[in-house]
Amino acid sequence: MPKNTSTISRRSFLRGAAIVGAGALAAAPAVSRAGGQSESGEELATLLDLSKCIGCGACVMACREANAERYPEPTKPFPEMFPARVKAEDWSDKRGVDDRLTPYNWLFVDHITVNHGGEEHEIHMPRRCMHCTNPPCANLCPWGAAAKQDNGAVTIAPDICLGGSKCKDVCPWDIPQRQTGVGLYLDLLPRFAGNGVMYKCDRCQPRMAEGKLPACIEACPMDVQEIGPRSEIIAKAEALVRETGGYIYGIEENGGTNTVYVSPVPFEALEAARDKGKDAKGHGKGSQAQQQNQAGRPHLQPVGSPFENENMFAAAVFTAPLAGLAAGALKLFRKARANHEEES
Ligand code: SF4
Ligand code: SF4
Ligand code: SF4
Repeated sequence: MPKNTSTISRRSFLRGAAIVGAGALAAAPAVSRAGGQSESGEELATLLDLSKCIGCGACVMACREANAERYPEPTKPFPEMFPARVKAEDWSDKRGVDDRLTPYNWLFVDHITVNHGGEEHEIHMPRRCMHCTNPPCANLCPWGAAAKQDNGAVTIAPDICLGGSKCKDVCPWDIPQRQTGVGLYLDLLPRFAGNGVMYKCDRCQPRMAEGKLPACIEACPMDVQEIGPRSEIIAKAEALVRETGGYIYGIEENGGTNTVYVSPVPFEALEAARDKGKDAKGHGKGSQAQQQNQAGRPHLQPVGSPFENENMFAAAVFTAPLAGLAAGALKLFRKARANHEEES
């Protein structure tokens, strides 16, 4: 197993912090604490060793606490849409839901009981955005609200997003979640625009910009997750697989992601053991209750590269310049409105 000095887990981060106190910024050599970048400029990825996860949910709680201030506070009643093609999605009265992705819950733990090799395994799998290396959500967002950051995280700007849900439509795992009654559409086109803002994990960009670890990594008592330059994370995951005979998910999926899972049980078996009745995208195709049960709970199927599909590729090529212009225009609109509010 190659020696890895650059990736940081919660324990090593805390150890480093204890040694150098408030000046802990030098504790993890390859992950600069300034802006959450890797020192080499390489994208950062996370490794999740599922054999360590006990399913305690501390990561979920930490995510909710760390990001609570960024959760939507919608204005009600919602404007009526015309035509009523986009349904209102309101999670503001269900903020406590923590067993699926919602605009108020960007991480959940999937608990899976599976038989493998003649034994029953309890696997606990933290799920959130995979932070794809070539993310269709960012490449196809018509407004430039979804974007890939230099550090490998994929973000959605809540002040630009109009909630049209393109990002969710093109995400193979349906990760982004919409809250109605919040965002720019209320000022721009309250009855015609996308009906809200999309929310998901952004790998704790505000924390990382302050030199902190993502909250879920810091809170985990079992050091399930590590973060580091992608090449090192992949080398570490592959070494772990060689050592333990485990299985990998995330390196190739959707053309590559910055989230790598290693499991002692094949992912096909985990997927089969999850709720039944899915189609290829993980949507329910069984009863209404089954569909309801699977919404917001991403699948574990293999996912090919999205831009091998010519239509997706062409759409991305045409969207990019227009999205840049749109994002600029929306930012100007927002600024003008803020100035106007200040004056009045
Ligand atoms: S990743 Fe860590 S904090 Fe989250 S459920 Fe697993 S053991 Fe608990
Ligand atoms: S997992 Fe989905 S939302 Fe996250 S970066 Fe990939 S395509 Fe975008
Ligand atoms: S990285 Fe941050 S936003 Fe993403 S799941 Fe972890 S705590 Fe939540």
